[in-house]
Amino acid sequence: MPEEKKNKFCSNCGAEIDIKAKICPKCGVEQPLIPEKVSNWWYILAIFLGIVGGIIAWAVNKDRNPKKAIHFLIVGLIIPAIYIIGILASIVLVSLGGARGKARDAMRQADMRQVATAQEIYYYDGEKKYVTNVAKTDGTPAIGTYLDALIDPQGATKGYNWLANTTCDQKFCAYATLENKGTCATTRYFAASEKGTKELCTAPTDGCACF
Ligand SMILES: [Zn+2]
Repeated sequence: MPEEKKNKFCSNCGAEIDIKAKICPKCGVEQPLIPEKVSNWWYILAIFLGIVGGIIAWAVNKDRNPKKAIHFLIVGLIIPAIYIIGILASIVLVSLGGARGKARDAMRQADMRQVATAQEIYYYDGEKKYVTNVAKTDGTPAIGTYLDALIDPQGATKGYNWLANTTCDQKFCAYATLENKGTCATTRYFAASEKGTKELCTAPTDGCACF
């Protein structure tokens, strides 16, 4: 069995002194610190507790191994920084997504205005009645030769809605569900009828009485 090292030599006077002595008992000069072995488990503490864990790991080990203790502190500071950067990045992505949603809502409103305008042209160019159709939940029907059938910018499953007006050729009702709920409690809609266009907070249910 190798004999455990118990003594060292003073860096100043060369006297043999205790290995743990911080100051030489002979000449009183401070001894350079010999770093002790420190467990890597302290990194785990810094990773899990962030700044607090890093400070604890540093405070406990700073006299035993100053270099490694600083590393614990750095890890404890970096982990929360990574979290903060992640949170900021997701906030930016969410706000970009919101901007795209608003752009699509503008398209939806423009589409509904087109439906209203095409119906008016159809009405006055023809027999003084609007295009009638059974209910549709996947888009709006074509308005004569003036406007093609329209679907939501996110696809037919998102649904532009057309309410049945087969019994009332003097009325019609089409609406889009908007992504941005605005001041509405749950959902905002943009509807087109013989009266023009309107924002609504509840979906219309009657093609002969849109709003
Ligand atoms: Zn000495």
